[in-house]
Amino acid sequence: MKERLFIFDTTLRDGAQTQGVDFSVEDKRQIALALDALGVDYIEGGWPGANPTDTSFFSARPPIKSAKFTAFGMTKRAGRSAANDPGLSALLDASSDAACLVGKTWDFHVDVALEIPRNENIDGIAESIAAVVARKREALFDAEHFFDGYKANADYAVACLSAALDAGAAWLVLCDTNGGTLPEDVFRIVSEVRSELPEARLGIHAHNDTEQAVAVSLAAVRAGARQIQGTLNGLGERCGNANLCALLPNLILKEPYASQFEIGVSREQLAHLTAASRLLDEILNRAPNRHSAYVGPSAFAHKGGLHSSAVQKDPRTYEHVPPETVGNARKILVSDQAGRSNLLARLAQVGIDLDAKDNRLARLLEDVKQREFLGYAYDGAEASFELLARRALGQVPDYFDVESFRVIVERRHNAMGDLVTISEASVRVKVAGETLHNVATGNGPVNALDEALRKDLGKYSTHLSDLKLVDYKVRILTSGTEAVTRVMVESADGTGNRWSTVGVSPNIVDASFEALADSICYKLFRAGARA
Ligand SMILES: [Zn+2]
Repeated sequence: MKERLFIFDTTLRDGAQTQGVDFSVEDKRQIALALDALGVDYIEGGWPGANPTDTSFFSARPPIKSAKFTAFGMTKRAGRSAANDPGLSALLDASSDAACLVGKTWDFHVDVALEIPRNENIDGIAESIAAVVARKREALFDAEHFFDGYKANADYAVACLSAALDAGAAWLVLCDTNGGTLPEDVFRIVSEVRSELPEARLGIHAHNDTEQAVAVSLAAVRAGARQIQGTLNGLGERCGNANLCALLPNLILKEPYASQFEIGVSREQLAHLTAASRLLDEILNRAPNRHSAYVGPSAFAHKGGLHSSAVQKDPRTYEHVPPETVGNARKILVSDQAGRSNLLARLAQVGIDLDAKDNRLARLLEDVKQREFLGYAYDGAEASFELLARRALGQVPDYFDVESFRVIVERRHNAMGDLVTISEASVRVKVAGETLHNVATGNGPVNALDEALRKDLGKYSTHLSDLKLVDYKVRILTSGTEAVTRVMVESADGTGNRWSTVGVSPNIVDASFEALADSICYKLFRAGARA
């Protein structure tokens, strides 16, 4: 009989504390639905009453099916009754299934931050939890700075937990708010709390300041915690929160957790983990972290010729779990180390089946090597690689033909006397026998060129409406005999697909143009556009 372990997601609350993260109500709705589909038990939506976005998000329950929609708030302020605290009222009025209240358990914080008698803090915790229970909501108590508090004054920290428990808290969540506690200390302290409060259900909320939030969470589970709080992609302030994208597969795929525990996320749902991770990146307009465990684009990438030939014989040679289990995919990287077997495998991945004896293979390999010598890098530009291969096999239609382009960058004083820089691009492009002349301005030469190229591509324009450029990287290299510029462009479309293309030229605008044109061709090819 497996024991049930509960997953509490706080991407939308603690994750929203991250520098540079500013979710809209619609973003929150989309992420909440993805988390619900993934099978987490609790979705903490935010802090109603603290800001207009969260208040609006909690004005109506999002259509989540199985997770408990949870509101976050603080225990009541000192010197007020629970009924008279506007923060607590906003929390209680929010449409939620559960409420998570954070309160102090470290005597130092009570003395210095709250400046109230220590027993008044304990009464405040009890009253606030009781107010949640009275409204028929499941109450969770987030014990802030619990591990630091326990080290400083264990009796007081446990007395705070006890007060919450006696008032009806369903969960006591031990928070390593500063993120500095090591797994062995967490194991010891959780074990001690368990023996002091054997009837309590304990949770763990860990931050990643020592790069061990996942390890800390697992240590807490081994010591008896049965709820883990974390975020998608480890999003969170400073170094982030415990990363659910690593925790979920660890719990489902690794021993002893797999045999000992059951979580709300099934193996089928786990196969949507990578998609959920990418959706969050997409919403944040961030490139995925290539090297993230399990879900990173490089988590199952093989570059060395020896590695990739072994992986093709049996993936277990260089993979700790099959990439499909988390919805990721194996990548065989093409580089100048690539041998024939590497190239064949990479071609097979993009759906090109070529016989090892096909003489087009040798030519393609030579072509790839020659281009890499010139400065092209296909490791990070899979879409350009696929186009290169398919063109060599005559599979890519000539969608359009750029006859010429021109870019002007002008810096001058405008009518107001301000110094402004204006970029304007014009492109002459032939589509289906018709020459189109597009002109556009942009916030830089590459943006202007991109706008001009896509402004009117005749019959293809409908396929390109959701295309956007999400990342742009420039490297100056000395390759071959002269200095050249390599531009990598990452593009995305409305369905969350991402692809990377590359361009190389001594001229930065020319290199950018090559990468942009490849991106458009790739999008048209994927969309099945006909020439
Ligand atoms: Zn936190």
